[in-house]
Amino acid sequence: MTEATSIIAGTEQPTADVAAACAAAAEAFATYRTTTPDQRADFLETVAAEIEADKEPIIEAAVRESGLPEARITGEVGRTTGQLRMFARVVRQGDHLGVRIDPAMPDREPLPRPDIRQRMVPLGPVAVFGASNFPLAFSTAGGDTASALAAGCPVVVKGHPAHPVTGTLVARAIVRAVEQAGLPAGVFSFVLGGTETGQELVRDPRITAVGFTGSRRGGLAIAQTAAERPVPIPVSAEMSAINPVVVLPGALERADIDALATAYVGSLTLGAGQFCTNPGLMFLPAGEAGDAFLRAAGAAVAEATGQQMLTPEIAEAYRSGAATLRELDGVRVVGQGNEGGENAPAPQVVESSVLEVPVTDEVFGSAGVVVRYDALEDLLPRLRGLEGQLTATVHADADDDGDVELARELLPVLEEKVGRILFNGWPTGVEVGHAMVHGGPYPATSDARTTSVGSLAIERFQRPVAYQDVPEALLPDAVRDANPWGLTRRVDGTLET
Ligand code: NAP
Repeated sequence: MTEATSIIAGTEQPTADVAAACAAAAEAFATYRTTTPDQRADFLETVAAEIEADKEPIIEAAVRESGLPEARITGEVGRTTGQLRMFARVVRQGDHLGVRIDPAMPDREPLPRPDIRQRMVPLGPVAVFGASNFPLAFSTAGGDTASALAAGCPVVVKGHPAHPVTGTLVARAIVRAVEQAGLPAGVFSFVLGGTETGQELVRDPRITAVGFTGSRRGGLAIAQTAAERPVPIPVSAEMSAINPVVVLPGALERADIDALATAYVGSLTLGAGQFCTNPGLMFLPAGEAGDAFLRAAGAAVAEATGQQMLTPEIAEAYRSGAATLRELDGVRVVGQGNEGGENAPAPQVVESSVLEVPVTDEVFGSAGVVVRYDALEDLLPRLRGLEGQLTATVHADADDDGDVELARELLPVLEEKVGRILFNGWPTGVEVGHAMVHGGPYPATSDARTTSVGSLAIERFQRPVAYQDVPEALLPDAVRDANPWGLTRRVDGTLET
């Protein structure tokens, strides 16, 4: 059980005082929303620098609390600070403000046109919930926090119970950055407590949006609470997926089967399979090449040893989910790895002879299901029947006319199902950039219109306001004629850079 503590307005307290954190955030919003692009970008860069200044204790705590290897956690620190700096650059460039100006046309017939100017404004205080499997990059100073702060929203983080010390150390680094930037203390608060603390945070009337990364059960519970408030608020919940991989016949025929199988098992077992992008479901052609792939995958997984999972509860849930998969009708075990200890259960791959195998929600961990298919026309209805997913992967030979034709048919079906389509690779590993989509239709996320990774994530915490015939002297800087921030703007329908 996590001890309830708070870091509110820069001071640590022994209680999870959600109300105080939300009050401080609401008060800080009035000032923080008016910061200039440079002030906000400088602040984000200072957060990154303060995290780096405490890198050693943060890494030590995260390794201890998560059981993840030091190299992985070190990489995650870099990803976290990189995200903060990316959002600093985004804020300086300012295109997230989406400025549009339709100048007045006083002589237009039959009616004159008023002067209308639009820009994005921050929503207000945002509640952030991180995930256990990314104690840094999807947690206290992760993508949700970075994008909300970049948008101009104060943030209240509900610390994750699986890494309370890591969360607290990162929270202290952010608080130092708030102080150095001379911002109101309520720009960032951190509360540690149980599920009721999180629920209270979502219900607090001062919270205007939620960014969540975690399980489907948690995300849906939070989305329901948010929808039932007297004033409902948007929830960007990034949840789980089974990330289908479709291997096309040409790719399989020409593949180095051992290399392909090893790469599959490598992606499946990476980080003990504790990735929302884990390739949980594969569609493989029936026939000898597919059989050979499964023999190779079986051998590769048999050599794999379970790695310590994040918590005993997650390890237990994996064991139970993996056993359920083994017991499904028409399922055969392709290979099982070795137990790596009490909380390090064995990875497994199973094959299903039933195309309609009822696999829906993820088994969080290294559990792969391979479904065989005879022809694409059998596969397409199965893909159309899938729930929304974060990713879909296609293995296709670009020089094989048959594969190219099949892929052409597959793509529109996959576009309707997923947020990211990748070819000839594996879905684990999400690049942080401007074109990335880490999202997807429900229930992969609660809102498919955006992403939780990459610079587009800032749009989740903004809304447009139009200013009609507002005198120049009263207009916000972003929409003034003089364009003091040098923004790219759409003026009378044409982009002006
Ligand atoms: P989790 O159990 O859902 O916890 C996430 C956070 O939500 C924690 O702070 C948790 O704290 C809180 N929470 C859970 N249920 C709640 C409820 N009913 N009301 C209020 N708060 C609640 O998820 P996790 O175990 O940390 O993460 C693993 C899952 O995240 C996996 O399913 C994985 O696939 C997914 N994931 C998704 C992404 C993505 O981008 N889509 C990325 C990484 C991980 P309390 O336990 O204290 O309530």
